[in-house]
Amino acid sequence: MTENDLMLTSILDCRRVDLALNKGYLTSSQKLKCDLMKARRAEGEPLQYILGQCDFMGTALSVDQRALIPRPETEILVDLAIEKIKSMREEKTLNVLDLGVGSGNITIALLKNIVNITITALDISDDALALAKENASANYVEQKIQFSCRDMLAYLKDSAHSGKMFDVIVSNPPYIPAGLIHELPEDVRREPRIALDGGEDGLRFYRTIIEYGWQILDPKGFLIMEIGDGQHDAIESIFARYPRYAVIHFYKDYVGTKRVVIARMDAQWKN
Ligand code: GLN
Repeated sequence: MTENDLMLTSILDCRRVDLALNKGYLTSSQKLKCDLMKARRAEGEPLQYILGQCDFMGTALSVDQRALIPRPETEILVDLAIEKIKSMREEKTLNVLDLGVGSGNITIALLKNIVNITITALDISDDALALAKENASANYVEQKIQFSCRDMLAYLKDSAHSGKMFDVIVSNPPYIPAGLIHELPEDVRREPRIALDGGEDGLRFYRTIIEYGWQILDPKGFLIMEIGDGQHDAIESIFARYPRYAVIHFYKDYVGTKRVVIARMDAQWKN
């Protein structure tokens, strides 16, 4: 669908096929809405913020400037996480930790696809958490989520000290090197910097998550993260500092870039 069609289906609250039937007829208020949307877009705002919605794993999620817009590549992480969690065949309810929940896309998709899990959904941004809560309640999964507005490092340290354990950790952390943010397309730069900025080399959050991950993961559990372009070698070297990780495996995205990493402590694991 073209951006214009997406704006029209949103304004008319109809499907694409219905646009042909409508024959381009808009009331004056619909025309005004359409012009406003086009003006916002021309001014560089991301299309999804203008529409107020985006599709993730077949679910319409509300999106706005409070959080990062879910990307199609992140569906690869979710598909892998679903497959691996289901293959654990546990009878008990599994505890999942989502570090940097953003709009709630990963957490909600996991809960919609797997019955026996509960998720601790962490974000440093109150705004992002408010949006994630709205999305969770619109999808009837909020009772299975414990939301926490915390800095990830502080949370991981506390959990490691208190012996709190998880079966699975998922994360799509900010991973753009700080110095490259100004080179991102105009619309991406409209997304919250806090959701993009991965520190000087983009690896800041991986260092934190990998350092503490093994300390709070069940030995049969796993850590699954989305990674940035070309970061796999550096991330592999970070994992190598912590010998408790026995198996590290990278998975490619639709264009052949290594996009997701899964780490396990259990050397028996075969991907
Ligand atoms: N995938 C986003 C982008 O490249 C970045 C998301 C992130 O930092 N986790 O625009």
